[in-house]
Amino acid sequence: MKPSRRTFLKKTSIGAIGLGILPTSIPTPSLDFYDDIKKGINPWIELSKKDYLKNAEIISKMAQGSSVLAVLKNNAYGLGDVEVGSILDDSPHVDGLALVKDVRCLALREKGVQKPILLMGDFSANLGVELAKANITFSVFSKESMAKVQALAKVNRTKIKVQLYFDTGLGRMGMAYSKPLDWVTELAKIENIEIIGLFSTLTTPIDFAQEQLRRFNSLTSRLNALGIEMPQKHIAPSQSILELEASHLNLVRPGILLHGSYPLQGMPQSKQFSLTPTFKLKAKVIRMEKLKPGDTIGFSRFYKVKQEEWIATLPIGWADGYASSAENGAKVLINGTLYPVVNVNASHCNLVIGRKKDVKVGDVATLIGPDVPEISPEGFGKAINGHNYLQINYKESIPKIVLDELV
Ligand SMILES: *Cc1c(COP(=O)(O)O)cnc(C)c1O
Repeated sequence: MKPSRRTFLKKTSIGAIGLGILPTSIPTPSLDFYDDIKKGINPWIELSKKDYLKNAEIISKMAQGSSVLAVLKNNAYGLGDVEVGSILDDSPHVDGLALVKDVRCLALREKGVQKPILLMGDFSANLGVELAKANITFSVFSKESMAKVQALAKVNRTKIKVQLYFDTGLGRMGMAYSKPLDWVTELAKIENIEIIGLFSTLTTPIDFAQEQLRRFNSLTSRLNALGIEMPQKHIAPSQSILELEASHLNLVRPGILLHGSYPLQGMPQSKQFSLTPTFKLKAKVIRMEKLKPGDTIGFSRFYKVKQEEWIATLPIGWADGYASSAENGAKVLINGTLYPVVNVNASHCNLVIGRKKDVKVGDVATLIGPDVPEISPEGFGKAINGHNYLQINYKESIPKIVLDELV
């Protein structure tokens, strides 16, 4: 039965996923569905296929031709893991996708994503067989996770793919690099376990990252000496890709770069490699009101009206993932003009339009997008004294529209 639009909304837009309930199927949204979003009053995100594919290609160039293992954790930083995963599934520069939550790996498969998927986090034992069946690669990152994979190997009929996750100094996940490797030998002996890779994560200070790379390379030699060779080796998140050539190995693991943002403000590399922000965050004006001198806006009465002026309300706030610090200097684009954000609450924000009523209810506002530097993800971060990872934590409840390119 073809699911109705209502079912689709219920399953993927109102937050079934956000509650940790795995939808049994994710229907492909119809054009109708997109139409409804645009006719409706709720905020939405537009994603550009063209820019994701182009960015993946540029990242592979940055990495001297290494292939990309696209990190889509945290719902692809709020932009939609299923949507971004489906786009990158078509990129010849993307070798595979990496996620942190077991149920999200399954959600990508249910949507038809074909490329290899690496689960970099833990998994619920009761999902093991399903994950293996969906051809998800498991990470062994601790004694306990190894025991879980071994137990799964006993009951699973098909070969289980595994990557070895080492801690070379981030101190967060992975088997300590300095420990004896007898556990690897033990794993390698198991008939239906196939070890296909080895990975770790670099920290940002270059000196220490170089030390981590030495540790990682010596691990590779120790494993080779045991007769264990692995096709995949990866260690570099976005910042290391840009700053440390030796970290590229045969795969790189970008997150933020894929969406067209750099990990830090004003990185010199951004001049050399021009990534494009891949998305627009949009909302419609739902209220226009003329306020008088002395009036204030918001709970904290932070913004005080000095002269008679029109104030617009957008139905999006920090609970949707729009940074609350936007009221400290961010702007929003409506009909080609930028207007300052003066108040962000949980579900609404306000803009100063000015003495003239140049905006009307129903006009579409672009809060983030590549249109002008002031509202690009990086420009937004700069305007609010934030960092570039701030503005991409949008909630699952914001629907995503996948377009061939942004218009
Ligand atoms: C988040 C993450 C990445 C990607 O980080 P970016 O800074 O967004 O590129 C890569 N590897 C691991 C293990 C991560 O957790």
